[in-house]
Amino acid sequence: MSAFTEKYVKEFMAALVAKNPGETEFHQAVREVLEAVAPTLEAYPHFLDAKIMERMVEPERVIMFRVPWMDDEGEIRINRGFRVQMNSAIGPYKGGIRFHASVNLSIMKFLAFEQTFKNALTTLPMGGAKGGSDFSPRGKSDAEVMRFCQSFMTELQRHIGPDTDVPAGDIGVGGREIGYMFGQYKRLRDEFTGTLTGKGQTWGGSLIRPEATGYGLCYFTEQMLATRGKSFKGQTVLVSGAGNVAQFAAQKAMRLGAKVVTLSDSDGFVYDPDGLTEEKLEYVMFLKNVRRGRISEYAQKYPSATYYPGERPWKIKCDIALPCATQNEIEAADAQKLVDGGCYCVAEGANMPSTPEAIKIIQGAGLLYSPGKASNAGGVATSGLEMTQNSMRQKWTAEEVDNYLRRIMSDIHANCLKYGTREDGTVDYVRGANVAGFMKVATAMLEQGLV
Ligand code: NDP
Repeated sequence: MSAFTEKYVKEFMAALVAKNPGETEFHQAVREVLEAVAPTLEAYPHFLDAKIMERMVEPERVIMFRVPWMDDEGEIRINRGFRVQMNSAIGPYKGGIRFHASVNLSIMKFLAFEQTFKNALTTLPMGGAKGGSDFSPRGKSDAEVMRFCQSFMTELQRHIGPDTDVPAGDIGVGGREIGYMFGQYKRLRDEFTGTLTGKGQTWGGSLIRPEATGYGLCYFTEQMLATRGKSFKGQTVLVSGAGNVAQFAAQKAMRLGAKVVTLSDSDGFVYDPDGLTEEKLEYVMFLKNVRRGRISEYAQKYPSATYYPGERPWKIKCDIALPCATQNEIEAADAQKLVDGGCYCVAEGANMPSTPEAIKIIQGAGLLYSPGKASNAGGVATSGLEMTQNSMRQKWTAEEVDNYLRRIMSDIHANCLKYGTREDGTVDYVRGANVAGFMKVATAMLEQGLV
């Protein structure tokens, strides 16, 4: 780290922490970007003079609101809703909605900040935002989830729109929740627009959107592997999570010839040394998406598998790790286990799943490593394609959307190489992704004056 970078990051972070106390996830996300872009700021001092970074860490708007709803027993419940509209320099705000008990302002700001750079990387015109609530759909009936979504949207609808802010899904928000929110939005606004993405196939949804984040992750990983003359063929892959991203990452990795041996949820992980098959994955999709059960049940159904309660998959020997559950799910000790187990590639499907200490270990050991903002950008990119189809009142074929997705992931990879190739020819994907995203957003902000 140069003397400039060290001083710049230290002073910037001190001011950020003082102004945003306790927002640890937000601090972590900002620090990663700062460390990556500081040499660029030194090289282009007009960004420093215009205080671009100081502006980028201040959301354009933060909306926090009460979400009252009634449970099936007739008891009144109160949750907190959020929408952080971080940056609209290159397009309308765009970013998912997360329903999980852990949601707070720090997590919303970290996700909205990451989203700004990720969306810039997709090559599509989308600004950055994120929203959600500390409501957990776990254990709730469909009727309770519907009443909650309707109450949430009753407030959110006044802040979003097809040219203003277009939310999508994230943890705890899938097709069911998007449907309930879209229904309420349409009812209150009396307009049928593409204001949410991830919609159902008969009412404006794009083909391949459900698959896009996981598939895009694998397309990106293929390109990373190719830099070392490798591919998914015959490789042992660890996947964490068992939700949307994990399911389709596992499916695509399998179809590209890999053996996927783990899946997880917040209670533990399953290890199946025989590997997933299409049939086993179909069961997982039914278990998680329809029955809304726990991954432990996989081990009851398939005796080849073992369930490890309260643990994460990283101790299992592998070639490639695809973390697809949540933030900070790979800590330093986990990273060391991956390195010791022979893993040579970690590609993030989740947002910020590796802690800074873990990243140091992974990069220090010379593994291929890509941050989520590059490798999981296929989801929002395909949401962008859904917006385009909605505006054109068209529906593209699955093949057309998949081809766009492949091309976008390939462009993101090329951008990472452009800004992240080291002198020895290896690639720093963290630097590449952050600098590429930063240059695009920062340039737009400069050109639009002091707003
Ligand atoms: P889902 O809700 O579909 O699945 C999340 C999975 O992660 C579940 O298996 C869940 O287990 C597990 N999980 C959630 N919280 C924790 C936790 N604290 N500890 C361990 N496991 C946990 O979400 P998605 O698949 O959509 O999202 C997964 C990740 O990918 C998130 O980081 C999200 O931000 C990111 N992402 C998602 C995109 C999308 O298109 N959906 C796009 C880009 C990034 P359980 O069932 O126990 O809750």
